Amino acid sequence: MAKTKAFALQAADARFAPLTIERREPRPSDVAIEILHCGVCHSDIHTARNEWGGTTYPCVPGHEIVGRVSAVGSAVTKVKSGDLVGVGCMVASCGACSECQAGYEQYCLRGATFTYNSEDRVSGGITYGGYSERIVVDEAFVLRISEKLDPAAAAPLLCAGITTYSPLRHWKIGRGSQVGIVGLGGLGHIGVKLAKAFGAHVVLFTTSEKKVEDGLRLGADEVVVSKDEGAMKARTKSLDFILDTVSANHDVDALVSLLRRDGTLCMVGLPDKPLSVRAGRLAFGRRHLTGSGIGGIAETQEMLDFCAEHGIVSDIERIPIQEIDRAYDRVVASDVRYRFVIDAASLR
Ligand code: NAP
Ligand code: ZN
Repeated sequence: MAKTKAFALQAADARFAPLTIERREPRPSDVAIEILHCGVCHSDIHTARNEWGGTTYPCVPGHEIVGRVSAVGSAVTKVKSGDLVGVGCMVASCGACSECQAGYEQYCLRGATFTYNSEDRVSGGITYGGYSERIVVDEAFVLRISEKLDPAAAAPLLCAGITTYSPLRHWKIGRGSQVGIVGLGGLGHIGVKLAKAFGAHVVLFTTSEKKVEDGLRLGADEVVVSKDEGAMKARTKSLDFILDTVSANHDVDALVSLLRRDGTLCMVGLPDKPLSVRAGRLAFGRRHLTGSGIGGIAETQEMLDFCAEHGIVSDIERIPIQEIDRAYDRVVASDVRYRFVIDAASLR
């Protein structure tokens, strides 16, 4: 067991404070990773503040982890000491069910083990995430990261990247697709870059007038400020696919009306309240309302390789862990440009 410095919350309304946790000795199939960077996802905030319910404290969030391999178990073949690697939202799954066998570990029928706030399949305790110095993970859940990518800016790919890549691929977004991305935050800004790289015509919907220029710089062909009723109306029945990345409760019914016949609105943002959509909005136009959860491990590797090839990383603001409470408040205020990434050196 290795004593490991981490930052944790002891309650939903607490502030972050240092906590020493234990990481297990690597088993034959395990990889020990010295963490370099960890992105700050809005899911960390939903969980840390118990907005979805079910948070166990102390809570050590963080599932956009990039680090270097420091040791490997005797059976590990995927990586070796010194390699640049990543760990995303999952650290284990049953491996045997139909979902795991099909490469959908995130939909494991026995429940995936998420990187934090999950029951740890090995220790029986609770998993602790990347707001820490090191982590030990089975090689099956370790991703290879190209040395071509800036490791800090690559960290958000491990969640925000795969969560936007997977639905854009599944719904076959490419040349000729009219795609809406809703919300320019961590997920949204990578969604814009990926949809553009796939060849789509990209329309960004934002509540923040200040983000219009950034939206265009990041690759959107058009930016609609969603408070502008005229601009929204002009987009009625025009989009093939909408990726909704909004973290807060908002008017999803209005977004459905932007879809063409047979168009699809895919929720990746996870507000806490049930959605409210008129049945007639779906029926007249035969529109689809759906959702998507992260992505499997093989697809996450495919996404990382695609990003390395196309030079796609996150726009980030680097912070020491000591600034995490303030960073959370800025994310909630939609004031992040466009992902905070923790320097793990600040933990040591
Ligand atoms: P984020 O950086 O905070 O971005 C969310 C964006 O939503 C904001 O930047 C803002 O964009 C927009 N927004 C915020 N409040 C709004 C409101 N009241 N009305 C309309 N728009 C609003 O968050 P994130 O890290 O990208 O995560 C987004 C959501 O995805 C979270 O709920 C997170 O839990 C979820 N998530 C889901 C998965 C999955 O597997 N499905 C994976 C990761 C994260 P503008 O300023 O441009 O309006
Ligand atoms: Zn996330």
